[in-house]
Amino acid sequence: MVDTLPEVPGLEPLFGDVVAHCPFCHGFEFSGTPVAILGAGPHAAMLAGMVGPIASAVTVLTGGEDLDDDLTKQLDRLDVAVRTEPVRAVGRSSLGLDLTLEGGDTLDLGGLFVAPTWQQATPFAEQLELEMAESGAVAVDGMGRTNLPGVYAAGDMSQGPGLQMPLSSVLTAAASGLVAGATVIHDSVSAG
Ligand SMILES: Cc1cc2nc3c(=O)[nH]c(=O)nc-3n(C[C@H](O)[C@H](O)[C@H](O)COP(=O)(O)OP(=O)(O)OC[C@H]3O[C@@H](n4cnc5c(N)ncnc54)[C@H](O)[C@@H]3O)c2cc1C
Repeated sequence: MVDTLPEVPGLEPLFGDVVAHCPFCHGFEFSGTPVAILGAGPHAAMLAGMVGPIASAVTVLTGGEDLDDDLTKQLDRLDVAVRTEPVRAVGRSSLGLDLTLEGGDTLDLGGLFVAPTWQQATPFAEQLELEMAESGAVAVDGMGRTNLPGVYAAGDMSQGPGLQMPLSSVLTAAASGLVAGATVIHDSVSAG
């Protein structure tokens, strides 16, 4: 899969380090520091709820967007600070990163969470007309089979039954690759 990051000057080189998308992957690294969450989508409340107990402070940056009523209520309940100015730039600092808001205020943060959008990195699924999940992942059964006999998928690009999205982690990607690989062998032997 390919991630597309929010367009903020200076953000891309920091992704995977002090800018991240997954609190399971970066929660420990950011713990005890002030953390911000960029974006006014439903991810903001989910991330704020997950990061709140481990960060020293949490700020949601709407990036110039309005918060809807539901999100405002959820963030109030979580006691999260909200800044509505667009983000002008980010750069590395000794704590993690300096973030500059329109108007000139700066925030010194230990980490920044973003919500990238993502899509298939290759055209194979489209060319093969594979059935896709709503998330944009290739739909597979529990054994890695796609809807097209002889074609299997595993890892971040695929999504198994009953899941809302791919389980994007190294262990689940490796495990689903093992299962799909074993199924390739099983199906070829069964087919004779
Ligand atoms: C910033 C960040 C931090 C993360 N931290 C963690 C973490 O701490 N713990 C964790 O478990 N998971 C973490 N993840 C998630 C984890 O990296 C992925 O879930 C995992 O790498 C998925 O493995 P994959 O093999 O499905 O895909 P990938 O690792 O993306 O591998 C796909 C490979 O296919 C290659 N490829 C693409 N197109 C072609 C082509 N046409 N021909 C040949 N090769 C091609 C790519 O170059 C790539 O090497 C993190 C992800 C990100 C982005």
